[in-house]
Amino acid sequence: MLDKAGFEDWLRELAGQFEIFGPKANDRGIVNWQKLNEGELPDERPGVPKGSIKTFFFPQPETLLEFSARPGTEDAFIPHEPGTEHKPRLVVGVRPCDARSVVLNAMPYEDDPYFHKNRQNVVLIGLACRQGCSTCFCTWTGGSPVGTEGLDILAYPVSRGYVLEPVTERGASLVESAGPGNDATGAELKELEEIRSKAPSSLPETMELAPRLREKGLMDLYNAPFWQQLSDSCINCGTCTFLCPTCYCFDIQDETLRGKGRRIRYWDSCMFPLFTLHASGHNPRGEKVKRVRNRFMHKLKYFPERFGPLSCVGCGRCVRDCPVNIDIRQVINELLAT
Ligand code: SF4
Ligand code: SF4
Repeated sequence: MLDKAGFEDWLRELAGQFEIFGPKANDRGIVNWQKLNEGELPDERPGVPKGSIKTFFFPQPETLLEFSARPGTEDAFIPHEPGTEHKPRLVVGVRPCDARSVVLNAMPYEDDPYFHKNRQNVVLIGLACRQGCSTCFCTWTGGSPVGTEGLDILAYPVSRGYVLEPVTERGASLVESAGPGNDATGAELKELEEIRSKAPSSLPETMELAPRLREKGLMDLYNAPFWQQLSDSCINCGTCTFLCPTCYCFDIQDETLRGKGRRIRYWDSCMFPLFTLHASGHNPRGEKVKRVRNRFMHKLKYFPERFGPLSCVGCGRCVRDCPVNIDIRQVINELLAT
């Protein structure tokens, strides 16, 4: 148990080893991932920060290699070692849904050295949710407001400060470095138990969505008319996929300047028509309805078929920020009801 001043001191000490990031409000009150200044604690208001936590593991953009763009030079390709341009990072105030998204993204990125190197270089300190907000639904997708998947440490916010639960060995040695701290009092342990028992009830009722969708056989709904109705309102802006922590599609481009080049990986989106455009000119997802259907089918059918869990952690970002109010929860209900 660390009181708030003890937690601040601990972060101050860790700043010697790590760059420290966390949710922080800007002057317009928008909470996003930002570097925390000395003595700053993460913003604790309910819900997730605006942007996706994937930015720490799958940066936008990411240099894959550098090359000489002058013909005949010997050092033609220099692989880029990820994480070399900054100190290891510690992200504090991570909600359990966001931490779980890192575990899910590691599945398709199993053989990606960049993702794994970034993962080794980032420590995650979670913040248990006292309550969900109106767009949260982690309880449908296999998560929990007090889940620990993907975290190194989970901090429970109690009145005096934080009770720290180490999750990984790395987390345990960091907690050790905080010194003896104080034992949580009986009242604080009661607060912790209350968070554990009450937080899930502030969210939609837990459901085993993955097996239910599997039973449903979504391919039978591939040509259902509601895909057309849904896509009529979508403007293919890509906001949902860029904010989504579990969307991981990318494009690769080469950029050159004065004889030097970089091969860069950028986030891309299946909602954009160019994403699937072939060199021949053929586009297998040339119509908007195909792209909208693909986004949901990928999350709810193709990914679980290949890896097990749904490719959604119920963070609610796409619900919160879609300019035309397309709501994945309604799509799920529609699929279950059809
Ligand atoms: S945010 Fe909404 S409008 Fe934009 S691409 Fe996604 S579903 Fe379509
Ligand atoms: S699909 Fe929406 S709710 Fe699910 S993880 Fe992505 S942004 Fe969050």
